[in-house]
Amino acid sequence: MLLYDLHMHSNASDGVLAPGALVDLCVDKGIQIMALTDHDTLGGIAEASRIAADRGVHFIPGAEFTCLWRRQVLHILGLNLDEQDPDLQAYMLELVAVRDKRAEKIAERLIKKGISADILDQARTIAGDASICRPHFAKALIQGGYVASAKAAFDVYLGQGKVGDVKAEWPDPEHVINIIHHAGGYAVLAHPTKYNMTFTRLRLLFGELQGWQCDAVEVSYPGMNPDQARELLKVVKQYELLVSAGSDFHSPEFGWTAPGRFPVIDVDDRHLLNKLVVNFNVEVGLS
Ligand code: AMP
Ligand code: MN
Ligand code: MN
Ligand code: MN
Repeated sequence: MLLYDLHMHSNASDGVLAPGALVDLCVDKGIQIMALTDHDTLGGIAEASRIAADRGVHFIPGAEFTCLWRRQVLHILGLNLDEQDPDLQAYMLELVAVRDKRAEKIAERLIKKGISADILDQARTIAGDASICRPHFAKALIQGGYVASAKAAFDVYLGQGKVGDVKAEWPDPEHVINIIHHAGGYAVLAHPTKYNMTFTRLRLLFGELQGWQCDAVEVSYPGMNPDQARELLKVVKQYELLVSAGSDFHSPEFGWTAPGRFPVIDVDDRHLLNKLVVNFNVEVGLS
């Protein structure tokens, strides 16, 4: 049985493990093909790819790009990216600026709500060299004694519709897909059932994604139910998109997620893995 994972985070964004430690954990789990997909950064790719080569794991360089579709934040994975692509590098620099600016706005709004003025410094210190994400603010809020857990931080301050949910100037999906393709990558819509959209709206999105030459859609990840999975697979097939799967692993502390852990998907030739790993005919029955 082939073990793989095409969606994971390191501490180059909001994951907990260093890229090399993530590779080692994947090796422990028997994973043969792994992608690193940090939020809007390629910062962990060099280390992960070096350690993966060392350990004999097939490594796929990637990123999880944030974008905005009809005022809805979406995540699109780029898999098999050429890190050296100058346009991609320029785009990654833009993203650093977008995230920095958003972090300032988040802090401003939190401070208005009575949070201490040093919240931005705290979050930046926690993020270190990583791309600054809301979970870094969550940790800063915990450290400041404002909330007891990350969940509470999102429920009260950072989650959808809360003060810290700042709409940044994220690009539209078509732009992101073009950048991914230009850098030799495949574009994959991440976790489609996690956007609180109806299937009617998802169909609208899939139609547009198809028009923009998006390659694949994740149809298996933790937290989805079998009904959703079936429905999703049907729609993805209808729009002639390939399928992908991944754990969205962030931290060993979250017991419900581990590298390589997501529901079995019953597909063969329509799996993106067939394109990502040449001559690798994917067997059905995974994880
Ligand atoms: P950002 O890309 O900076 O907007 O941060 C998004 C990240 O925050 C996601 O990838 C998750 O890892 C995390 N996140 C989002 N919503 C929640 C939540 N309700 N509870 C805990 N973590 C969350
Ligand atoms: Mn995340
Ligand atoms: Mn995501
Ligand atoms: Mn993710």
